[in-house]
Amino acid sequence: MNLYIDYGGTNFRYSFDEGKLFNIKSDDVELIAFLETQINLQKDIRKIFISFAGQVKNGKIVSAPNIKIQNFDLKQYFYDNYNIEIILKNDINCAAIYEHSRHKDADVLALLYIGTGFGSAFVIGGEILSGKDNIAGEIGHIPFRKKNFMCGCGRSDCLELSVSGKVFKDGTFNDASEDVKKEFLDGLAFAFHTVLNLFDPDVFILGGGVVKNNPSLLNFLKEEYNNSSFRAIRGDLKISISDIEDANIEGLKILSKG
Ligand SMILES: [Zn+2]
Repeated sequence: MNLYIDYGGTNFRYSFDEGKLFNIKSDDVELIAFLETQINLQKDIRKIFISFAGQVKNGKIVSAPNIKIQNFDLKQYFYDNYNIEIILKNDINCAAIYEHSRHKDADVLALLYIGTGFGSAFVIGGEILSGKDNIAGEIGHIPFRKKNFMCGCGRSDCLELSVSGKVFKDGTFNDASEDVKKEFLDGLAFAFHTVLNLFDPDVFILGGGVVKNNPSLLNFLKEEYNNSSFRAIRGDLKISISDIEDANIEGLKILSKG
């Protein structure tokens, strides 16, 4: 059987084949120990698919701003020790694979994800945009406003420092101060217009915990679209909030069948 894992900055969800989805806190997980325990408990795991909230390249975790694991060759380790194949993908790309399966006719599908971090992915002509180092779409790390602390990526002015669940501390968007809300919306609008002008998407999906808890962000972006540059040229935009919670896991399942 296959083990599917969605390893996010806050939640760690997993399921075996089409079975129940388990949910634990990412802070409580030590990934290698977790995988070895599951392999020993479930004798017939053949492949492990992981959707990961960080940068991955050739099966290796390169960097993970929100998770404490870096530069470990998981794929090689589990192949050498257990003869099990690990398929490791960036989480937003997994979600984009799922969303594209729902919008197969999209020429350019753009996905913005606001959860613990702020990410994006693009499916252009049916293919995920990867770039040279598999980090295309790291919208959360575009320079925006300078802070007096560092982002996990090495800069201190990333959009993610203004637009992500992290800026609300333990609260939500609605509990935040007016200043925090304003900066969040300024950053979100900046990201949105950047995406419109760079990619001219026909399908635009919003996802992640912050969006789910604040569905009014959809109306905010619809309004921004109406005020976008070249509005007279732009046709209608199919913009919506992702309709499922586990798009990452569903994307992995699609990958496993392809
Ligand atoms: Zn950054």
